[in-house]
Amino acid sequence: NGPQKDDLQRIIELMDGFKASKALFTASRLGVFDLLQSRPELDAAQVAQEIKASVKGTQCLLDACVSLGLLRSRESSCQKRVYMNAALAQGFLLSDAPHSLGGYIQHCDQTVWPLFTHLECAVRDGTHQHEKAFGKKANDLFQDTLYNNQDIKLRFMSAMHSIAKVTGRAVATAFDLSRFKTACDLGGCTGALAHELTKAHPEMRVTVFDLPTVVEMSGRFSPQHSENRVSFLAGDFFEDELPKADLYILARILHDWPDEKVHVLLRRIADSCTSGSAVLIAETMLDGRKPHAALQSLNMLVQTEGMERRERQFADLLCQHGFGDVQVVHTGNFLDALIAFKM
Ligand code: SAM
Repeated sequence: NGPQKDDLQRIIELMDGFKASKALFTASRLGVFDLLQSRPELDAAQVAQEIKASVKGTQCLLDACVSLGLLRSRESSCQKRVYMNAALAQGFLLSDAPHSLGGYIQHCDQTVWPLFTHLECAVRDGTHQHEKAFGKKANDLFQDTLYNNQDIKLRFMSAMHSIAKVTGRAVATAFDLSRFKTACDLGGCTGALAHELTKAHPEMRVTVFDLPTVVEMSGRFSPQHSENRVSFLAGDFFEDELPKADLYILARILHDWPDEKVHVLLRRIADSCTSGSAVLIAETMLDGRKPHAALQSLNMLVQTEGMERRERQFADLLCQHGFGDVQVVHTGNFLDALIAFKM
C-alpha cells in the first residue's frame, strides 16, 4: 500500500513552502514584476539583461513564478517563451500598486527569513533570535534591532505601512465608531490606519503616538492629500503620559509583548480612560484553524518578546483592567478586530 496521493501532495506542498516564499521574495527584490509591468512579453534573456542576472537563473525564476500563479507566459510568434504579470502580481507586487506588499516582502526576506533559520533555537529557548541572526543584542526590541540603522528602520516602517494599508479599512469599519470623536493610535507607526479611520469616520481626529525616531520619519509616508485630522505625537507608551482620547487603538502592538508588559500598557490606558471610552485591538487571532495566525505566532516568537493570542486571552487581559462588553469581528482580512469598553 503506497501513501495516499493527496496526503503525499500536501506534505510536498508544505516542504516546498519556503522555496515558494524565497522565489517570490527574490523576483520582487530583483524588480521582475515592475519590469514586466512596464515592458510585458519579454523573454528570459531580455529579463536577465534588464535585471543583470544569468539567463539560466532568470529562466528558472520566471518559470517558478509562472507555476506559483505570479506570472503568465506564452509562446511568441518567433517561438520564444515570453512572460507577463498575472493579476496577483498586479494587485500586490508592483511597487506602486495601491495594495503593494513590497515593503512587507522586503522585511520578510531580509529580517524574518534570517530569524526563521533559527526557529529550532527559538522553540528550545522560547526567545527571539536577533542575536544569532544579526549578531545584535536586543535589550529593547525596537530601539536595538530595528531602529538603530536608518535603512532597516525605513524598511520596517514600510513593511508596517504596506500591511496597514491593506488591512486598515477592514479594521476601521469593523465596528460602529461614530460615538468616538478622538482616537489615539498607540504605536501607530506611519499613520496608515489613522488615515483609514479618518476616511471612514468624518468626525474623528486621530493622534498617532509612536517613538520619536519613528515620528520623525512619518512624513515620508503621508498620503498625497494629507488629512489634517491626523496628528503625530512622539513618546514611549510604557513611560510617557498618554494623550487623552475616547478610543485607544492597539494595532499589532500587543503581539510584540509578553503578558507582563501588556498589563503595564493596559493599566496605563485604563488610567487615561473615562467610562464609555474603549480600546480597539487589531491582531491576527489564534483560533486553532487558521494556519496564518499560528505561523504568525511563530513569527512573533523569532522576532519579538510576544506571541499571537486567542480571543479569550485578550478578554481576560482586558477584564483585569476594567474593560468589558468585548466584541470581536473576524474581518476575513489579515487582522481581526476586538473592541472593549471601559466599565
Ligand atoms: N500599529 C502599526 C501597524 O499596525 O502597522 C505598527 C505596528 S508595529 C508591529 C509596532 C509599533 O509600535 C511600531 O511602530 C513601534 O515603533 C511602536 N512602538 C514600539 N515600542 C513603543 C513604545 N515603547 N512606545 C511607543 N511606540 C512603540
